[in-house]
Amino acid sequence: MLGTLWKSNSLRYWVAIGMTVALAPLAISVIGGFFLFNHGVVKIFKDVASRHLEQIVPTQQLRLQLADSLELIVEHEDEGADLWLAQYRALDHQIDTGFTQLQARLTNEPEARSLVQRAWNNWTVAAEIGSEIQQSRQLSDQRAIALATGYRERLSAASDYLEQAYTKLDAGVGADYQRAIRSYENALWLSALAAIISIIAVIFGVIIISRIISTSVDRLVGGAALFAAGDRTHRIEVEAPPELKRVAGEFNTMIERIQDSETALADLARRDALTQLFNRRAFDEALAEMHARIQRDGEEGSLIMLDIDHFKRVNDTYGHPAGDDTLRNVAQIIVVNSRPFDHAYRTGGEEFAVLLPGVNIDDAREMAERMRVGIAANHTRANGNDISITVSIGVAKASAALTPKAVLEAADAALYFAKSNGRNRVAIIDEFGCREAAPPRNGSAKIINIATK
Ligand code: GH3
Ligand code: MG
Ligand code: MG
Repeated sequence: MLGTLWKSNSLRYWVAIGMTVALAPLAISVIGGFFLFNHGVVKIFKDVASRHLEQIVPTQQLRLQLADSLELIVEHEDEGADLWLAQYRALDHQIDTGFTQLQARLTNEPEARSLVQRAWNNWTVAAEIGSEIQQSRQLSDQRAIALATGYRERLSAASDYLEQAYTKLDAGVGADYQRAIRSYENALWLSALAAIISIIAVIFGVIIISRIISTSVDRLVGGAALFAAGDRTHRIEVEAPPELKRVAGEFNTMIERIQDSETALADLARRDALTQLFNRRAFDEALAEMHARIQRDGEEGSLIMLDIDHFKRVNDTYGHPAGDDTLRNVAQIIVVNSRPFDHAYRTGGEEFAVLLPGVNIDDAREMAERMRVGIAANHTRANGNDISITVSIGVAKASAALTPKAVLEAADAALYFAKSNGRNRVAIIDEFGCREAAPPRNGSAKIINIATK
């Protein structure tokens, strides 16, 4: 399931996932932190401040105004001045307004509201007594004293209720303040936690991206380095992402094509263009290999060297292209009279060789005879002429004691022997010396005819 997901999604997809993993917690922290701080801290502090301003301060103010009105009563008792009346009325009005406003601001504080209401009731009674005191000049002293006493009592009761309301409100605001402080501290801890989570997420996101990209890129780079160092067998294995898998696939195809071209070029460098047989360079390598095998495994081995007789005359008589056709023809007859796994070589202009690892000198001579007979029996048709040629062949026995160069010289000596003894014959050379081979057994050679124009 995970493997399929990993392989089927694109590089772009994984980079987007990595970026999301890296940045999402950061974004969530910033947005969440903003709301948390605003609602949990700033709002509570603002609430505390506004309640202080709108509830506590006016409550205290009312208490002061009540105290002021008490002072006015004392002044009236002392002086009975008219000034008192004006001041008292103004204060009476202010106190009434103050109570009305305060009650309106205490809708969410039922307990404080009920205390303020009681204070207000007492003040209302006191205010009524106050209006009687306004006319106190006509009252007896006793009655005036009784009114003043009642007024004081009511004011004092109102002030007490206001104090109780103040205490209640102050306690509520104090609790809210403590809550705000706690929220602030919690917000600090949460910020620290969010910062740590964000850092971990960033690292995790970067790991996702780098794993997706770098593992595959490392393989591509490693494969390219091996290729540059000459390794043609290594294939780059990239499973995902698909983009890099494609790159690896194209790279592998390119390596295969280069490998094929290099093999073809190497083969070309070891082949003779005219006859398609292997060339002298390939022959030298194969001779050295056969020598190494004989030395290592003690097995037998033989070398056949062929040289076309009087080939110069073919060129002189029929022309160089006809000579080329003859050379191609001879090459084919050599091949068809060899075993499928024997390699034939064109070692010089009109000279050929066949290497026979594991073949003793007698079998090699038989093979050479078949080749000789086959070539002699063949006609190359060129420019309306039938060209007949013969070959002289030297067969040498290879042994651990002979170097590749010595085997070659021995085969050359046998070939020279065949030429010197009349050409169109096979000579062999082994530890017993150089001698002409027994006459061919008729019918054993494969004969082909190549008709050319
Ligand atoms: P011998 O029997 O002593 O070997 O005589 P020969 O004429 O075969 O030997 P010689 O070395 O005198 O001549 C070899 C000739 O092979 C000379 C050269 O023109 C010819 N020859 C070499 N390479 C090619 C080739 O690629 N194409 C053609 N048509 N002739 C070639
Ligand atoms: Mg020659
Ligand atoms: Mg020759």
